[in-house]
Amino acid sequence: MQKIVDFIKQTFNTNEFIPLHEPKFIGNEKKYLNDCIDSSFVSSVGKYVDEFEKKIATYIGSKYAVATVNGTAALHISLILADVKKNDEVITQPLTFIATCNAISYCNANPIFVDVDLDTMGMCPNSLKSFLETNCEIKENKCINKTTGKTIKACVPMHTFGHPCKIDKIKEICDNWNISLVEDAAESLGSYYKGKHTGTFGKIAAFSFNGNKIITSGGGGVIVTDDEAIAKRAKHITTTAKIAHPYEYVHDEIGYNYRLPNINAALLVAQLEQLEKFLASKRDLAIKYKEFFLANNITFVMEQKDSKSNYWLQAILLDNINHRNNFLEFTNKNGVMTRPIWRLMNELKMFENCQCTDLKNAKYLEERVVNIPSSVIL
Ligand SMILES: *Cc1c(COP(=O)(O)O)cnc(C)c1O
Repeated sequence: MQKIVDFIKQTFNTNEFIPLHEPKFIGNEKKYLNDCIDSSFVSSVGKYVDEFEKKIATYIGSKYAVATVNGTAALHISLILADVKKNDEVITQPLTFIATCNAISYCNANPIFVDVDLDTMGMCPNSLKSFLETNCEIKENKCINKTTGKTIKACVPMHTFGHPCKIDKIKEICDNWNISLVEDAAESLGSYYKGKHTGTFGKIAAFSFNGNKIITSGGGGVIVTDDEAIAKRAKHITTTAKIAHPYEYVHDEIGYNYRLPNINAALLVAQLEQLEKFLASKRDLAIKYKEFFLANNITFVMEQKDSKSNYWLQAILLDNINHRNNFLEFTNKNGVMTRPIWRLMNELKMFENCQCTDLKNAKYLEERVVNIPSSVIL
């Protein structure tokens, strides 16, 4: 393990503490922030929000983008726009960041957990299909869960650490079962599946620009969709549902204050200009890690066939939970930050009674996957 610590320190060219993921502000960030401050448009009005929405939509290849205050808010609104309501059900994966399940819960809906694939670490299409075939039926064009009698409105797969899941198969299954596909693409800006950017397969998708993501605005998120009506409604309800008027305050429904401040958008416009450079650096780091870990008989998580990963968080697979625990203990004690993959959502007390399929792949990965330092190296 000393060898691994030495290799990582050498790769990052430092003897100081190495964080898991550190943001880099090496472009026009200060210039655009100053512009914001000088103009006094730092909050809910200003040109950078519009500029960012246009540029990110173009980059991702979706028709519309609506910036939000964070990725969780983007997911929450995405689910509302997929018609997820109180007592509905939403299928997702147990191996994800808590935000996915929080957003489902904010709609007063319940998650159902299906297993992940070992190779992508994302939702397994076969597990999804067999869950639906065993438990569900279509009634009046709705997917009804026969066990609970409730309607399954949406399915939220997630592209783990930037590695695309088998999203085309998942989309086909969702279409067959009249379930809206909402992609949690929070981690996958710059990741493609069969040449198409993640987040463009379903009805709607959410991305995050939290401090640890591939580009960051401190906090931020975006909703993307090709559907004009959904985009308009997303803008409307994330901005307090106010009817446009030069001075009157009239709101036509309960809205949310989920808009991204202009000052954060300014930071994002500058970060987006750096994205290609960040992606190249991460791919380069992945190649270095791959060679090193191959020579040391440790599995390094690589992008899969048909996929282009952004390699947002680099990951290795250790032999078993004891090996994993020793590795975490040793590296963190020796100045190299490492972190286990998330605790499975169905193991948290809020979600312990949720319906699940057999989750043997998720459990296998939970006990073995560790993230290692992944920052962009300049
Ligand atoms: C980061 C992240 C989110 C959104 O997080 P915010 O911190 O609210 O921007 C959602 N889902 C996943 C899987 C994430 O990693």
